[in-house]
Amino acid sequence: MFTNRFLRVFQVASRLKGKIRRFLLCLFFPARVQESVRKREGECDQCGACCKIVLSCPFLVEYGSHTACRIYNTFRPTACRSFPLDQRDLDDVNRQCTYSFPNENTTGEREQLIVPVWRTGKTEG
Ligand code: SF4
Ligand code: SF4
Repeated sequence: MFTNRFLRVFQVASRLKGKIRRFLLCLFFPARVQESVRKREGECDQCGACCKIVLSCPFLVEYGSHTACRIYNTFRPTACRSFPLDQRDLDDVNRQCTYSFPNENTTGEREQLIVPVWRTGKTEG
């Protein structure tokens, strides 16, 4: 019981930290945010999970399995428009989000396959 409560407090604190991180990134590092948005793959299926992190947003309208935002075309904050920014954000919605990011480890493995010319024994030209 104590452990469950501790885990719940830890989870809420971690998600609050994520909200603050996204807010500050959008405010002070818009170029970095744009870069993250360019990297993500897929599209939003309007599940609304990101609108219910820690607390349900007062602008959220739910109908069936889908949701809508009352201020979608007017004052929707940049942090909402650019969710998710990375894997940590996907964790904040228990991976319910339909966006994804290319696996950075895969890129690393690909880079390792590039063997420098001087190690292959081939000469240039
Ligand atoms: S403002 Fe709109 S998009 Fe942002 S959390 Fe609220 S309902 Fe969701
Ligand atoms: S969690 Fe992802 S799929 Fe769901 S509403 Fe937010 S951005 Fe869209």
